[in-house]
Amino acid sequence: MEKIGEKEANVLKKRTKRSEKIFEEAKKWMPFGVNSNYRYLDPYPLYFSKGRGSRLWDADGNEYLDFNMAFGSLGIGHSHPVLVKAMRRRIENGTIFGFEGEDIAVLAKTICQRFKVDMVKLSSTGLESTMHAVRLARAYTQRKKILKFEGCYHGSHDTLMVNVKPSLAKTGKSTVPNIVPSSQGMLDEILQNTIVAQFNNIDSVEEAVKKDRDDLAGIILEPIPMNMGFVPPKPGFLEALRRLCDETGALLIFDEVKTCGKFYHGAEGEFGVTPDLKTMGKAIGGGYPLSVLGGKKKVMDAIVPGVVAHAGTFNSNPVAVTAGLVTLTKILTKEKLAYAAKLGGELADGYTDIINDAKLKAKVQSIGVSGTMHFTDHEVTDWRSFLDVNVGTWWTYYTAMLNRGVIPMATGPDEQWTVSVQHTKEDITTHLEAFKTVVRELLRSEVSMEMVEAI
Ligand code: PMP
Repeated sequence: MEKIGEKEANVLKKRTKRSEKIFEEAKKWMPFGVNSNYRYLDPYPLYFSKGRGSRLWDADGNEYLDFNMAFGSLGIGHSHPVLVKAMRRRIENGTIFGFEGEDIAVLAKTICQRFKVDMVKLSSTGLESTMHAVRLARAYTQRKKILKFEGCYHGSHDTLMVNVKPSLAKTGKSTVPNIVPSSQGMLDEILQNTIVAQFNNIDSVEEAVKKDRDDLAGIILEPIPMNMGFVPPKPGFLEALRRLCDETGALLIFDEVKTCGKFYHGAEGEFGVTPDLKTMGKAIGGGYPLSVLGGKKKVMDAIVPGVVAHAGTFNSNPVAVTAGLVTLTKILTKEKLAYAAKLGGELADGYTDIINDAKLKAKVQSIGVSGTMHFTDHEVTDWRSFLDVNVGTWWTYYTAMLNRGVIPMATGPDEQWTVSVQHTKEDITTHLEAFKTVVRELLRSEVSMEMVEAI
């Protein structure tokens, strides 16, 4: 009998012939045919032609209800009409000046006030913001070591491309993980200055920094790690990190590249812990490349010529600045985010009900507009508890959802859904109906036994 995973993969292949053809051509000119390795799908990536509102269309013309929303970059949904209008005007009047644009101070003030930082420096990608944060922390403290958490991702630069998705065999079973580079080509000299600890485990952090307390420049973390699904911090964990930084003189850095667009005041607004620096990106640019390093004035003041470098041709280009201003002031407003968060709650509750009714071995973890479903019977609190989620079943679920016209979340069992301000109640209902059908199929299939909770 054809297994459900194979069956769904074959259906997908039949529906996406043009993607397959584009891939054949693209891979001649680009390794793997994509420009971010995370976009690769087996046996080939899908290629898309159009996005509008809550929907995407692939190169074969298949329509999808989209809950990936460009890995959380589109809290405002695709081509929001208010933004489209503003961008038309912007593009007609110049896209880059080689000087700052006249409205730059308005955007900087808007970001500072909303995300409660004193000052900011803008660039284009999340990677740049965390890279600059690390450099600034080292310069400000005149120390070398940076602590990051296993399973957290901060962009693909060397200091932080460590223990992003390590196997248990490599990371080891002790409280303090072994250092595992996540790419070849990184120098040992750089890795020696990165310390790794387990998320949600303050003992692991204390142990990891024991011999380096006086050389600790900063602790960087996703306040809700969203590169191992959706992992809220345990009560007291962020506070304990704040205390440790105060005791050691290290800087606390929140990587809010994902969270800043998902909560009106970002993670600080949600959890009440104030870091020294914040990095932001994705949704605040409304789908255009805009990222931010922000923080306390006394720290940010070091980014001046001759002290700490910060540069970039495309930094704060007028296109990104207009997109950021319109997004933050007119679209991703408190009211609209509250609306999307309510729908997000309904989606999470709907998933939980379906899982419970079917006695499926799966757990939903969610707050507001975002959340995920892990195929496991326990809560995921850190990378090690993520490692035994049923990845194969997740891919079958994902493929089966695509075949029913729903992109249920960003690509990968380590990702999550984003509900945008353009999603509707009907979109949530359609998503849940598709999930219900897929669960029925899964239960009928050969994988059913391993997925049903023992009762
Ligand atoms: N930080 C976090 C938390 C991220 O999730 C990402 C990307 N997914 C980055 C940084 C890097 O951002 P970018 O891809 O824009 O460089």
